[in-house]
Parts: sequence; structure tokens; C-alpha cells
Amino acid sequence: MEIRYFDNAATTRVKQEVLNEMLPYFSNQYGNASSIYTLGRNAKRAVETARQRVADLLNCKPTEIYFTAGGSESDNLAIKGYCYKNRNRGNHIITSKIEHPAVLHTCQNLEKQGFEVTYLNVDKEGIVDLNQLANSIKHNTILISIMYANNEIGSIQPIETIAKMAKMYNIPFHTDAVQACGNVPIDVQKLGIDMLSLSGHKINAPKGIGALYVKNNIEFERIIDGGHQEKNKRAGTENVPGIVALGKACEIAKNNMNKHMQNLKQLRDYYIEQVEQKVPMAKLNGSRDNRLPGNANFSFGNINGEELLFKLDQKGICASSGSACSTGSPEPSHVLIAIGLPKELAYSALRTTFGEENSMQDVDYLISQLIEIITNKSI
Ligand SMILES: *Cc1c(COP(=O)(O)O)cnc(C)c1O
Repeated sequence: MEIRYFDNAATTRVKQEVLNEMLPYFSNQYGNASSIYTLGRNAKRAVETARQRVADLLNCKPTEIYFTAGGSESDNLAIKGYCYKNRNRGNHIITSKIEHPAVLHTCQNLEKQGFEVTYLNVDKEGIVDLNQLANSIKHNTILISIMYANNEIGSIQPIETIAKMAKMYNIPFHTDAVQACGNVPIDVQKLGIDMLSLSGHKINAPKGIGALYVKNNIEFERIIDGGHQEKNKRAGTENVPGIVALGKACEIAKNNMNKHMQNLKQLRDYYIEQVEQKVPMAKLNGSRDNRLPGNANFSFGNINGEELLFKLDQKGICASSGSACSTGSPEPSHVLIAIGLPKELAYSALRTTFGEENSMQDVDYLISQLIEIITNKSI
């Protein structure tokens, strides 16, 4: 059976050009980037080209990019790294209730170590409460971390406004941009972002590679001890093939941004329109306007999302009932609860996240299968 993949917020396929670019660094060019002979220097050069490409996507300097093992590590490094280094300045962190577990659980961990965390509310569209943010800033607030775009409902935060508020109080601003990066244009200088996390496997590069942007004047501590790699901020032999792949994916993302966004928006808007017309009880979760181009998230009344996924899987359709990270957990999504959905509606949610390979015909197939499953009440 043909597989139709609508779960690009969970992970993406490695693009052929990305794969081609990384392959030599597994075989012929297998040098350690820290070795001084030619084979090592070739690897080092590839790493620095990739760093430049990531920096170009974000409009920052290559010296402000640190490679990590993914989005989760970037979030940990930004938040723990900054808080450990600056705990003499205060112990209060502000974040939101709808962050990815990589941020939420990092903050909870810091709470156990004596830090105090404010988890901001969001409105029914999933946008943070800016008044509450302003009122939460205290003399001991040392960091604000708010995600750029949500992985479940796709809501995009007013990043520039948040960054301005943070700057007014001289508090650094970190954003988890794992979902936004490559899907919307991000200029860290124009937006006033101090730290930003991104991940390879969400932008058609492999799993297990990511990067953290840290503005040059921001001091942070490393959280993985060992060798002197990444300017002494992240120990471990460089994942050269992964880094090369991430660089290539960023280069492609930058060059294709407008077309990519247009494609995704077309698929998303068609899907949303059709579902709202044809599927009884369908209710769109998240914001209609401030939304990732490839994200749609619906609740379907009294239907069980997990069973719906199972039925869709039998038709070759991959989607998600919430965040992939919480699959198997019996609790409803913390994001859907935070936007005020009653539990029943949270349990009936279906996230579809469109990508490169999807065609209009694929979306038509998805819609027809959804209608059949839901209106036949076969679940
Ligand atoms: C996927 C994701 C992460 C984690 O990235 P990994 O590379 O899988 O560790 C963090 N934040 C958000 C918003 C994500 O979607």
C-alpha cells in the first residue's frame, strides 16, 4: 500500500540532495574534524561551511552557531547553560505552558535545583498572554524562553514583541524554533532573538543533529563535559555527516523559502476548508492566521483520536493525535488543555502536518478517508 505521510512535525524525510551531500563524510572523508592532517582538515572545512549555511538561514555570524545532537539538546544547553552561568544574577525563568517537553522538563528540572519558573498562559488560539508576561518580569528574572511556533497546533508567537519586552528589561530571550526554522523566514537580528534552538530532522536533515544560536555577547556554561569542540561549549567528536546535512538543509530552506511556504499553505488551507465543509463536528484548534504553513489540527467531537489514527494507518495514512513525544501517555495533550479544550475534545484531536512530498491528490485521499471513518462512525 502507498504510504501517505502527514506527520512532518514529528519528523521529515531526508532530502536526496541532503543525503548526497553527507554521504562522503561516512566513507571517503571520514576524518576527525579535530585532526590536523588533510583528512581531518577536510572534515573541519565541511563543518565550517555548514556553520556558515546555518548562520545564513538565521542571519547571524557563524561564530554564533553551536552544533548539538538535536533540538532537545539545544534547548537544554540554552536554558541550563545560561541559567547555570548566570545564577548569581537571579533564579527566575519565564516560559509558557505550551512548550515542547524539551523546554518544559528542563525548566522543571531547574525548579528542583532552586530556580523559580513562571509558566505563562496562552489564549484559545495558543498565543502567550503578553500582559501576564509583562507582569511576571521581576528583579531576579534572568531568562525568557518562549517557543517560536507550537509543534501541535502550529501557533506562531509574537516573537518580535516578546524580544522587545525582554530587551527592555535586559533579559536574554531564547526561542525553541525547531518547528518554525525552515518553514517561516527567521532573522534573529531583526527579531532581536538572543538564543535559538533548531533541529535537523524537522527540516529534511537526519535525526540526531541540531544547532543552537547564541548571540556573541551572551555567556553560557557547557552541559556536556569532555573535549574542546564547539569553542569548548559542547564536547564530543563532531557529527560531521550530520552537520554537513544540516548545513545543506538550511541552504535549501533559505533558497526555497517562499515556494515551500506557498506549497504548504495551499495544502493546509485546502485541507482546512474541505474538513470544515465536509466533516461533521470538526473544530480547528489553534490560530487561523498566526499558524505554521504546514499545520492543521482538528478536534472531531466524540471520536477517539488514537482509534482514528489506527484506522487511518490501515489506509496508509500517517498523522498524529497530538505530539509524537506524548504518544502512549494516557494524559490529553498539555497544549490542547492550555488552549482551553475540554478533555473529550483534546482526546479527539488529529494533527496533520504537510510536507514537501504531499500532493493535492494525497490531501484528497486523506479527506475522503477521514470522512469515511468519521461519518460511518466506524470508531
Ligand atoms: C521535535 C522538537 C524538539 C526536539 O527536537 P529533537 O531534535 O527531536 O530533539 C524540540 N522542540 C520542538 C518544538 C520540536 O518540535
